Amino acid sequence: MEIVLGLLAVLVVSGLVAAFIAARPRRRNAELEPPSAPPLPPKAENGSAPAAPKPAKARRPQIPSEEELARQAAEVVAEAEAVLAGAREAPVIEPEPGEAPAALKPRFRDRIGKARGLLAGYLGSVRSRTKIDDESWEELEEALIRADVGITATTALLDQLRAQVKAEGIQTSEALVDALKDNLKKRLSIADRTLRIEPGQPNVWLFVGVNGVGKTTTIGKVGHLQIAEGRTVIMAAGDTFRAAAAEQLELWSKRVGATLVRGNEGGDPGAVVFDAVERAAARQTDLVLADTAGRLHTKVNLMEELKKVRRVADKPPGKVTEVLLVIDATTGQNGLVQAKQFTEAVEVTGVVLTKLDGTAKGGIVLAIQNDLGIPIKLVGLGETADDLVPFDPDEFIDALFA
Ligand code: GDP
Repeated sequence: MEIVLGLLAVLVVSGLVAAFIAARPRRRNAELEPPSAPPLPPKAENGSAPAAPKPAKARRPQIPSEEELARQAAEVVAEAEAVLAGAREAPVIEPEPGEAPAALKPRFRDRIGKARGLLAGYLGSVRSRTKIDDESWEELEEALIRADVGITATTALLDQLRAQVKAEGIQTSEALVDALKDNLKKRLSIADRTLRIEPGQPNVWLFVGVNGVGKTTTIGKVGHLQIAEGRTVIMAAGDTFRAAAAEQLELWSKRVGATLVRGNEGGDPGAVVFDAVERAAARQTDLVLADTAGRLHTKVNLMEELKKVRRVADKPPGKVTEVLLVIDATTGQNGLVQAKQFTEAVEVTGVVLTKLDGTAKGGIVLAIQNDLGIPIKLVGLGETADDLVPFDPDEFIDALFA
C-alpha cells in the first residue's frame, strides 16, 4: 500500500512539474512573438540546439513554490487514499447461483505435482548414468517403494523390466526409463473402468470406505458429473450414524441439484437406501447414490451391515450396478489394508481414489491394481464439485513422468 501511495505521490509531483514545464514554453512563445518576423537566433557554434531566447522579465509565469507543489501532491494522495479505502470496504458481490463460470476440468498434469516431484528426482539420477548398472536398478526400486507402489508390485515390475531389458537389448538409461513408463501404462491399461448404468430401473451406486476418505464429497462430485450428463439423481444418506454426514450430503445435494433422502440419526441405513430406491422408481430417477457408514458406534459389525445394505439396495425395483470403494491416496499402504476388508465383504466393482492431489505416493495406483485387482474408476484431484475425473492411466503416467 505504502509503495502504491509513494508511487502515486511521485507521479503526481512529476505530473505537476511536467505540466508546469509544458506550460512555460507556450507562454514563452507567446511572450516572444514579435509583431514582425523575428531575427533568426544565432546558431550554436558546436552545432547543438540553439540557445533558448530569454523570456521577458516582466511577464515571467507564476512558478508554484515547492510548498505549493507539495500541498497539491498531498491533496491528490489523500484523494487516492480515500478511493482505495472505499474499494477495500466495498461489498464482495458473489455470483448468483448458476452464474459461476464453468470450471475447467482438472488435469493430472496440473494436480499431481507432489507425486511427480518425488519420482523426478530418482528418474533424473537414473537418466544421468551413462549405462544401466546396479545403481540404476537400486534407484528405480527405491523410487517405486517410496512412491508407495508396494514391495510386491515393485518386485514384479522390476523383474519384468529386467527381462525386457535383456530380451530387447536395451542399453541406455533413457531407454530404460521409457521401458518402465511403457510397462506401467500396460499394467494399468488392462482394466475396464466404465461406470455401469443399466436402463430400465433405478441404478444404485453404493459408496463404501472408512470415515474421512472422502465418500460424501465423492458422492457430491459424482452427482454433479451425472447430472451434467443429463441423468436424474437421488442421494441417500445411508450413514445414519453420523448426523454430520447427512448434513454434509444435504449440502452437496443442494449444490449440485440432486434430491436427498435421509433418515433419523441412528436409524436403519438399509431402510434409508430402500426408501431412496422406491422414490427413484416412482419418479423414474436414473441413479441412487448411496452413502454408507465407515464406522459404527454400536456393536453391529460394519461389514455385516454393509452386506445388508447391499442386499436391500439390490431388491427390485432397484439394482446395484456399482459398489465403489473410496480410498484416500494419502494413507498409502495403510489404506490398502482397510480396503481389503471391504472387498471381502461387499462385491466392490471399482475404486475411487481421492486426494491424489495431496500426496507424493502416486504409486498407490499400481498397488491398488496389483493387490486388490479392482480397477480405479475415478480419481479425486481436489475438494470442489469439478475435481473428480475418470482415471485415464496413460494421462496419469505421462503426468507422473513429465
Ligand atoms: P467421508 O467421511 O468419507 O464422507 O469423507 P468426506 O467426504 O467428509 O471428506 C473428508 C475430507 O477430505 C473433506 O475435507 C474433503 O473436502 C476432503 N476431500 C475429499 N476428496 C478430496 C480430494 O480428492 N482432494 C482433496 N484435496 N481433498 C478431498
